[in-house]
Amino acid sequence: MYEDLKGKVVVITGAGTGLGKAMAERFGKEKAKVVLNYHSEKNDYKETIQTIEAAGGKAAALKGDVTKEEDIKKLLDFAVEKFGSIDIMINNAGMENEVPSEKLTLEDWNKVIDVNLTGVFLGSRDAIDYMLEHDIKGSIINMSSVHDRIPWPHFAHYAASKGGVKMLTETLALEYAPKGIRVNNISPGAIDTPINAEKFNDPKAKQEVIDLIPMGYIGRPEEIAACAVWLASTESSYVTGMTLYADGGMTKYPGFQAGKG
Ligand code: NAD
Repeated sequence: MYEDLKGKVVVITGAGTGLGKAMAERFGKEKAKVVLNYHSEKNDYKETIQTIEAAGGKAAALKGDVTKEEDIKKLLDFAVEKFGSIDIMINNAGMENEVPSEKLTLEDWNKVIDVNLTGVFLGSRDAIDYMLEHDIKGSIINMSSVHDRIPWPHFAHYAASKGGVKMLTETLALEYAPKGIRVNNISPGAIDTPINAEKFNDPKAKQEVIDLIPMGYIGRPEEIAACAVWLASTESSYVTGMTLYADGGMTKYPGFQAGKG
């Protein structure tokens, strides 16, 4: 537990499912005030609000699309109106779809870049602007992926977007370090969330993924949420511009395990 997170206002995009939901619940346990952005009425944000409140945190949710400037603005205004500040901004919303690159349409390319990269830019920009204006030494956390460094055929748009997120994070970290605003990146490996549901429902496809993970298991959303609370808390006060790979060793060239190569 991180005592300093108690009462802090954290905004999380894509918080209706998967990693966003797990992070929202973990910040609830830290007794933070959590603002959840969700994208679809099908998302179980209402249950998440109840879980957060039962844990002693506070929560409110607003529907919105991270690719729209006006929706990001409304989300941050909503956080300030509900809870009086923005201390932590987590740009988590993301999407992927598999297409061989020669068949990748401009529409598909733009969609993934818009959600995964432009959404992170808009959320970071507006949260930083608020923090500067109110002299808040806040924390921005962006959700990238191991594919900000592992090339991924059939997912060129996804890999390009996440590579962009990593460099955006590092640039913003450098730009705002003198103001005490920290900007960090979490790059998960394969985690058990809806984004992977179809793949992990197929035992063969799931095993093929596990074979790429030196630690031998698919990560749990709570293991990513644990990284987020650490990066948000003052326990990581001297850390900025970092990409935290939470991947069971996936980025460590598993093909070379056991002395191969
Ligand atoms: P998920 O599909 O459960 O979550 C993605 C969320 O983003 C959903 O709630 C969805 O509604 C939301 N979203 C999509 N488009 C949006 C938009 N335009 N506006 C607002 N919200 C939108 O999957 P997840 O695994 O929880 O993914 C969360 C983040 O983690 C994504 O950025 C993803 O790329 C990243 N990630 C996940 C894994 C993994 O293995 N699960 C690995 C690496 C990176």
